[in-house]
Amino acid sequence: MAEKKTRKHPMPAQPAAERIKNFNEVPYGYTKETAIGEAQRCLQCKAPRCVQGCPVGINIPGFIRKIKEEDFQGAIDILKDKNSLPAVCGRVCPQEEQCEKLCVVGIKNEPVAIGRLERFAADWAAKHGNTEVEPVPLTGPKVAIVGSGPSGLAAAGELVKKGYRVTIFEALHQPGGVLMYGIPEFRLPKSIVQHEIDGLKKLGVDVQVNMVVGRTITIDELMNEEGYEAVFVGSGAGLPYFLGIPGENLNGVYSANEFLTRTNLMRAYLFPQWDTPIHIGKRVAVVGAGNVAMDAARTALRLGAEEVHIVYRRSEAEMPARNEEIEHAREEGIKFSLLTNPVEILGDEKGWVTGLKCLKMELGEPDSSGRRRPLPIAGSEFILPMDVVVVAVGQGPNPLIPRTTEGLETNKWGNIVADETGATSMPAIFAGGDVVTGAATVIKAMGAGKAAAEAIDAFLQSKKGGKE
Ligand SMILES: Cc1cc2nc3c(=O)[nH]c(=O)nc-3n(C[C@H](O)[C@H](O)[C@H](O)COP(=O)(O)OP(=O)(O)OC[C@H]3O[C@@H](n4cnc5c(N)ncnc54)[C@H](O)[C@@H]3O)c2cc1C
Ligand code: SF4
Repeated sequence: MAEKKTRKHPMPAQPAAERIKNFNEVPYGYTKETAIGEAQRCLQCKAPRCVQGCPVGINIPGFIRKIKEEDFQGAIDILKDKNSLPAVCGRVCPQEEQCEKLCVVGIKNEPVAIGRLERFAADWAAKHGNTEVEPVPLTGPKVAIVGSGPSGLAAAGELVKKGYRVTIFEALHQPGGVLMYGIPEFRLPKSIVQHEIDGLKKLGVDVQVNMVVGRTITIDELMNEEGYEAVFVGSGAGLPYFLGIPGENLNGVYSANEFLTRTNLMRAYLFPQWDTPIHIGKRVAVVGAGNVAMDAARTALRLGAEEVHIVYRRSEAEMPARNEEIEHAREEGIKFSLLTNPVEILGDEKGWVTGLKCLKMELGEPDSSGRRRPLPIAGSEFILPMDVVVVAVGQGPNPLIPRTTEGLETNKWGNIVADETGATSMPAIFAGGDVVTGAATVIKAMGAGKAAAEAIDAFLQSKKGGKE
């Protein structure tokens, strides 16, 4: 491929040798001068293709122009109009697959660094700007939000601004969903997420933690006994899938979900000041090659593992993780055991992991996913000695809510069936985010929460109209 002529302004980052010893954020973000320089690369297209690639339709040339003009408050105002979490999205959105993929500059050069500019504007606002929204009197009907991930936070934000009395019910002891328990501190500082949650609380959103809807209280009870007139279910896809191979019940095998929750939410990396232990050993295998796998691998390294392998049955070209995450993992010394399929986890007589028995694979014809199917090579069996195995091969929705909500339709994968407005098979129950789509992205979950908030508003308005 021909070398791209002009490149994005690079973003300074902690050197790899340094950052693997701490959990601090890796990239430092643009300075004012670099951000303005990068904003000047934008052509201010009349029909901006980048906007078509943004799941929430941000006025991208508009906010970039404001940065170019040094009107950073103007930039954040434009961003906030469509995206309530720009500091989060500027860090974790897969821009290379969305806005930046379509950016016209990217045809001959590297595309404009839209994500980095979004992050710059959001970080500037956190330090110097005004992003406070005036609370409105909360006189509307009561709406319950189940789950406090990006979909629930977005829905809550939209509804409280319209005067609804909103309560978020969160199963864990801290709100934020994957933003808090899944994505590590070194990619998304938790103070950023906390700031957003505090903002919602200031607007009057009531956040109730340790509330497992379906167990502590059911949706039926919320509506018929607690007076909620509509419910938004944004309970995510937090149920880990396993490999289904012998040895998965050995000590030292974690789902990525448990591994990351222990570290991020329960601060295992600060043990013993925080009382969450985590077993790491010297050699760690992470099975899978998505963002979750990269996060787990890089976390294992920071927790003190000497050698960490990504074990993946396809080749590099099929790895689903963002390029930036793969690049960062490589720089940090993560080893990639590709075209390698684990067939058994081996253990000692005390039940602790000792290794991963694998087969070498080769790629055949494309399968139904469009990716080339991995095929085992006969007689290629070998053992990777390991102390810990983290399984990161995907996750699905927890069945608790559908099981305890009669009439709530799900599909064959257990996802709640909902249309693009979030309407489900039950009139006052709406749903969105990963619980509907399966594991997806932060921005898609936020977009779904926002769309559902509009639909809930319309539903409750029409109900009120009907009563009068
Ligand atoms: C490790 C990891 C890394 C990721 N990295 C990226 C990335 O870089 N970029 C990106 O765009 N996306 C990434 N994703 C995906 C993204 O985080 C999700 O698509 C997004 O968080 C989905 O939002 P949500 O609101 O649907 O659900 P979630 O964020 O999963 O939130 C759901 C919340 O509901 C709560 N809940 C569940 N059941 C109940 C119940 N019965 N009662 C009460 N509360 C309940 C859960 O505890 C959770 O807090 C990543 C995901 C993971 C796991
Ligand atoms: S497509 Fe690229 S150059 Fe055109 S407005 Fe969007 S960011 Fe700017």
